[in-house]
Amino acid sequence: MLSVKGLRANVGDQEILKGLDLEVGSGEVHAIMGPNGSGKSTLSHVLAGREGYRVTAGSVTFVGQDLLALEPEERARLGLFLAFQYPVELPGVNNTAFLKAALNSLRKARGEPELDAVAFLRLIKDKLRVLHLDESLLKRPVNVGFSGGEKKRNEIFQMALLEPRLAILDETDSGLDIDALRGVAEGINALRSPERSMILVTHYQRLLDYIQPDYVHVLAQGRIIRSGGKELALELEEKGYGWIDAELAA
Ligand code: ADP
Ligand code: MG
Ligand code: MG
Repeated sequence: MLSVKGLRANVGDQEILKGLDLEVGSGEVHAIMGPNGSGKSTLSHVLAGREGYRVTAGSVTFVGQDLLALEPEERARLGLFLAFQYPVELPGVNNTAFLKAALNSLRKARGEPELDAVAFLRLIKDKLRVLHLDESLLKRPVNVGFSGGEKKRNEIFQMALLEPRLAILDETDSGLDIDALRGVAEGINALRSPERSMILVTHYQRLLDYIQPDYVHVLAQGRIIRSGGKELALELEEKGYGWIDAELAA
């Protein structure tokens, strides 16, 4: 699904990613953990093709294509989905209209027919049921006045509609109380499938109390320095991130 090899990337003239390797297979859920400032969000942004991030070395293959050669829209067309740490607010834009436009522009890019209002509403009802979500979120302007939990649930709803092959969720757990966290985790779990991979980027272990990742990676100083199963997350919870400095120094 995704193969990252020796990836190096700069923000401005500062090198942030320093030779990162990551392999994500179909249907797998990978957690990327690490201290603040280690480059987790930079990795998400580079994979999304966001401006301001310059790749200086390495390669990224996504469903057999050279991801780094593609525009952000082309990456989305291939089935890459990114939910960001700070979702944008769009005052005056109705959430349902926004979601419909997003889905139809994706379908159009793929040469699929656009959904009419009736078909779209049917789809929305379907997804609301799967995710146990309330319809009220859809009637409001995009993210405006949404609580932290509502923003995150809205991201998961976007993901449910767009049905990506690879979803990258950056700090989906940040700022959530325990009920909101559980709700978001249930949504993510409902969207797991053998055809869909996920990368969960998180500083804290607690999201992983509700979502069992297949693999856990530790990102530190721009590289993945350790990989393991879900027990690695528990080890990090117990030991904190302090040992990383010692390990990197050695
Ligand atoms: P993480 O998500 O792991 O907390 P980031 O990828 O956000 O880490 O940041 C890694 C490093 O890159 C930090 O030192 C941060 O200050 C720097 N950085 C990230 N984005 C920018 C930016 N747009 N401008 C300047 N520095 C940045
Ligand atoms: Mg951070
Ligand atoms: Mg971050």
